[in-house]
Amino acid sequence: MTESFKTLPLPPSMIETLDNLGYHSMTEIQSKSLPFVLQGRDVVAKAKTGSGKTAAFALGMLERIQASSFAVQGLVLCPTRELCTQVATEIRKLARYKGNIKVLLLCGGQSIGPQIGSLEHGAHIVVGTPGRIQDHLRKQTLTLSKVATVVLDEADRMLDMGFSDAVQQIVNQTPSTRQTLLFSATYPSGIEKLTKSIMKDPEVISVEAVH
Ligand code: ADP
Ligand code: MG
Repeated sequence: MTESFKTLPLPPSMIETLDNLGYHSMTEIQSKSLPFVLQGRDVVAKAKTGSGKTAAFALGMLERIQASSFAVQGLVLCPTRELCTQVATEIRKLARYKGNIKVLLLCGGQSIGPQIGSLEHGAHIVVGTPGRIQDHLRKQTLTLSKVATVVLDEADRMLDMGFSDAVQQIVNQTPSTRQTLLFSATYPSGIEKLTKSIMKDPEVISVEAVH
């Protein structure tokens, strides 16, 4: 039995949005990580696929977004376009309580021109693959200087795919005052090196699968 989202310091409109989505109680990874995420702490969280990790980082990221500013304030890196799409869909649902939050997908395998056009109109949150985010940084069509929250989602798969250096370079272009959140289903050996170089005193949380 897990707790209600009402135990968290979230605005009533957010609780209502969660209720409307059928999210009446927190999953285990959510109840263990959200208190730290909402405090602004860096968090490394490990839990199996399907355990609700997206909301665990998205609720914290959304709380730090200022809707009135059209700068990119949240950055989520995911290994594949399919995962980026799933994450963006979930964030858009959760963002309803905040009004007009623009979530932009920047993935490879799609033409870059329309992405540049969308960036010119502004976005609060960017969800993308490391390669394509680097392309935009090189072209200077994306600026990360106002990012308050960086999320590495499915970090184990990003490392498997050889994105470690790319992730590091991208994160280095965000303010040092950012909050950094890392979510993963497993902890491969390279993760520790990455967390040491980009995170500050992270709270490490692990939910073990029950068989
Ligand atoms: P993960 O990233 O750990 O694989 P997801 O964030 O994709 O998991 O969530 C898996 C599914 O569970 C999604 O369909 C999501 O909408 C749903 N979900 C997440 N949190 C809750 C909750 N607290 N109550 C009910 N459903 C939830
Ligand atoms: Mg996930």
